Amino acid sequence: MSHDIGILGDGCAALSLAAKAEQLPGHTITLIRPNGAPKPKDHVWGFWSDDVLADAAQLAKGTWHKWAVLTPKRSVTMSSTSMPYNAMKRSDWTAHCQSLAQSSGVKFIDQDDGQLEQHSTLFDTRPPVAPDDCILQHFHGLEIKTTTPVFEAETAILMDFRVDQSKGMHFIYLLPYSSTEALIESTIFSTKLADEQFYLSAIDNYLAEHYHVEQYEITHREKGVIPLGKLAPHDDNIPGFGANGGATRPASGYAFLFIQRQISSAIERVNAGQELTFLNPHKRLDLWMDSVLLTVLRHWPEHGPNLFSNMARALTGDQFVQFLSGDAGWWIRLKVIFSMPKIPFIKALTKRAFTRTRVSTAVVG
Ligand SMILES: Cc1cc2nc3c(=O)[nH]c(=O)nc-3n(C[C@H](O)[C@H](O)[C@H](O)COP(=O)(O)OP(=O)(O)OC[C@H]3O[C@@H](n4cnc5c(N)ncnc54)[C@H](O)[C@@H]3O)c2cc1C
Repeated sequence: MSHDIGILGDGCAALSLAAKAEQLPGHTITLIRPNGAPKPKDHVWGFWSDDVLADAAQLAKGTWHKWAVLTPKRSVTMSSTSMPYNAMKRSDWTAHCQSLAQSSGVKFIDQDDGQLEQHSTLFDTRPPVAPDDCILQHFHGLEIKTTTPVFEAETAILMDFRVDQSKGMHFIYLLPYSSTEALIESTIFSTKLADEQFYLSAIDNYLAEHYHVEQYEITHREKGVIPLGKLAPHDDNIPGFGANGGATRPASGYAFLFIQRQISSAIERVNAGQELTFLNPHKRLDLWMDSVLLTVLRHWPEHGPNLFSNMARALTGDQFVQFLSGDAGWWIRLKVIFSMPKIPFIKALTKRAFTRTRVSTAVVG
């Protein structure tokens, strides 16, 4: 008997699964473009190389074996031979997945053109619901060309905190594609979005101050808002995957790797005779550590620059990648914990314990 799988959504997670339809014999897959879905916009996915991302690495527009975290006081450069950082255009990945999916017979329909109930199993990849006071990662980015060579093309700048910190933890993310071309983003972690001009001025000021670039050509613009922390499913009655299945790593907003892992492990279970189901791809301990970190960034964002710079200094490049990818063992976790400024974390743990006690007292009372 063939399993008729309907998937609400045609974004990263839905298409990444559809591209692997061949590995799901006995299943027919239909991607359903949801009512109210916005027009897709292109952006870059950054990720560290991993076995599960071999296809994506082939499509990368840029690859860096070195990456840096900078604060006003310190610059830390990390490197990895086997796990470089990559940047890939969303449109390149979705086109790749679409073509594989179509050749495996995946159907693409609009929500209005079919009945959701006709599918024996339905999954939802529409965005999860963020609580009102959710901490957000929000950014505006520009792909630019300069007239003179200014960028050091060997090194990706993951976080440069030498920018205005008045609106939350704020950093510049700069991926140099060559000495004259780069993606540069102004990124903030906070509960409120800033005016567009704030991010754009941050980019301008940064380029002027650190690269002496006053004029440049803009070849592409992107922006995004990624809710971080515990999010509710889009619809409680439909199981989700992708961001709607908990794939976004709460403290970093990275989801691309975790979506691919979530899908691969679901396929492995099907091939071992189980039903198609999607599990949260993160370890509970990572989720807990991230939630404490988010408490610090929400209430004491001024510690953010030191915190990330200390972490970068404490770990080798490979360990840094393992930590962010959820592959850290106890040794790496302990190195991270001991590198952190202690006071804000003690305050965060106290605040969380106090909030929990108040909530349970309220429930009991
Ligand atoms: C701009 C941006 C940059 C990112 N960069 C990175 C990165 O560098 N590295 C990384 O690991 N992760 C990154 N992420 C996080 C994550 O990888 C992406 O959000 C990824 O697209 C999540 O895949 P998904 O399939 O769960 O959701 P999506 O790809 O967003 O797909 C959601 C689906 O729901 C539909 N939909 C959206 N809104 C509605 C609505 N209101 N009503 C109905 N349908 C709707 C969409 O049309 C789509 O079909 C980024 C996210 C954003 C937004």
